Amino acid sequence: MLTATGKSIVSGIAVGNIKIYRKPDRSISDALVEDREAELKRFEDAVETVIDQQNDLYDKAVEEAGEDNAAIFQVHAMMMEDDDLLDAVKDCIKEEGHSAEYAVRQSFEDVAHMFEEMENEYMRARSSDIRDLENATLDALMGIGPEGLQGTEPSILVADDLAPSETISLDKSLILGIVTKGGSTTSHTAILARTMNIPTVIQCQEIDDTWDGMTAVVDGYNSSIYVNPTADILKVMLERQEQDKKEEALLKDLKGKESVTVDGRKIKIYANIGGPEDVEAVLENDAEGVGLFRSEFVYLNTKGNPPSEEEQFNAYKEVLEALAPRKVVIRTCDIGADKQVGYMNLDQEANPAMGFRAIRICLTRKDFFKTQLRALLRASAYGNLAVMFPMIISVRELVSARELMDECRKELEQEGVPTGPVEVGIMVETPAAVLIADDLAEHCDFFSIGTNDLTQYTLAVDRQNDKLDPFLDTHHPAVLKEIKETVEAGHRHGIWVGICGELGADRELTDQFLRMGVDELSVNPKSVLKVRKVVRGLDLSLPEKVEEENFH
Ligand code: PEP
Ligand code: MG
Repeated sequence: MLTATGKSIVSGIAVGNIKIYRKPDRSISDALVEDREAELKRFEDAVETVIDQQNDLYDKAVEEAGEDNAAIFQVHAMMMEDDDLLDAVKDCIKEEGHSAEYAVRQSFEDVAHMFEEMENEYMRARSSDIRDLENATLDALMGIGPEGLQGTEPSILVADDLAPSETISLDKSLILGIVTKGGSTTSHTAILARTMNIPTVIQCQEIDDTWDGMTAVVDGYNSSIYVNPTADILKVMLERQEQDKKEEALLKDLKGKESVTVDGRKIKIYANIGGPEDVEAVLENDAEGVGLFRSEFVYLNTKGNPPSEEEQFNAYKEVLEALAPRKVVIRTCDIGADKQVGYMNLDQEANPAMGFRAIRICLTRKDFFKTQLRALLRASAYGNLAVMFPMIISVRELVSARELMDECRKELEQEGVPTGPVEVGIMVETPAAVLIADDLAEHCDFFSIGTNDLTQYTLAVDRQNDKLDPFLDTHHPAVLKEIKETVEAGHRHGIWVGICGELGADRELTDQFLRMGVDELSVNPKSVLKVRKVVRGLDLSLPEKVEEENFH
């Protein structure tokens, strides 16, 4: 047996076989080929394969997402028949003697760059389509298939690191546990793992390719991985798994009960979700609403293009209808920083966390933002919707976002499209927002405190950098003071204040949050009943327990 350790971000026990997640290696040699005709034939076969794939995807998408959303695959198939593109590849093979892979990379990249240079936003976005097709053609030439990435059996996924876009596109039903070499506790990959409630250990340096296929246990309680476990360890771990199931069953007794302290103080416990696929977990764990729907995961889920108004409308409507009359707070697109999508064509930045992200993108690319606002307003007719804007640092930003929303509402009214009432709030996740909370409160209906970013910006600790973990004090008095001041400012102006960052689920702080007057905690679905249990055991008429002395 081999024991490896890391840092646990989701507790629980997973037992199964390891599947090493390998990113496709599309490195290409520039060596010349001997048989140019054979190379041309390989390219022509690959083109046919890609066209067939795109047509199959079109048929699947028509069934699952409707004709409009499927059209992109038809466009892709047509692009693969474009004579200029095909001739460029063939010339590179015939005249220069390059391999089909080399010729595809050169010619497709030329076209992608050409699109990137265009003025028109729609045409610029076509560069992502060309790159999708480039990868599909290279995969056909190199025999890379999607099944190689995840396997077909439920397994423990082991990877160097996972980008949020990779995590979101994984088939969750095939993942028992996750182990990564990199990763940080509040990265979005970690957040997704928590939402999916999959035992996860990150920062495990001992990961080794030879583990592929071996039996292993992920022990999320002790931040350990046992590869090839002994019979004794396996027995203990399976017993612990059994115990977990029993405890979960006990927590279920709290379903339908109020989140109220012994002395009668009520608090709302909502859930954080990433899309319609998480609705079941919200209901299963009896969350009173959704306090943070990270809509950008809808954007990470579409390849090649941002989700259309129709696609977004369907996703939001599905969640609102399924959860009505519960409140659903949808955060507008928070793309950028660690949540990158190719089709946005965002520049590489030296400091992406402090860069062109979230509301900054939305207020710059107004048409892009209006597509989302229209979809949200249309969906508001189907449930109890609240919308909030991320990364706000000024009243001007909030007012501009609201003006765009009003513009969209007027457009929809003129088109005769029904809309419902919508509460509008902001995420308080920058120290600037805390400091001007009184001014901001005059222009919105609620605050939701994003402690993940607020902690990162207050302590100047990059949440993506795992080396900084020793410097990350999640209970830092500066952050707790900011939370308290935000609640007080909100209440001075008669608006409700919640916490939707990971700190909201920290049960060591539940007592303090209630005493500060926090109105709502939005936590990962699996934590809802655990937090409710703590709330029901608290008595705020008794003196507060003081946290142990800490060196701050
Ligand atoms: C936060 O910053 O606390 C938050 C909830 O948003 P995200 O984690 O998605 O940045
Ligand atoms: Mg944030």
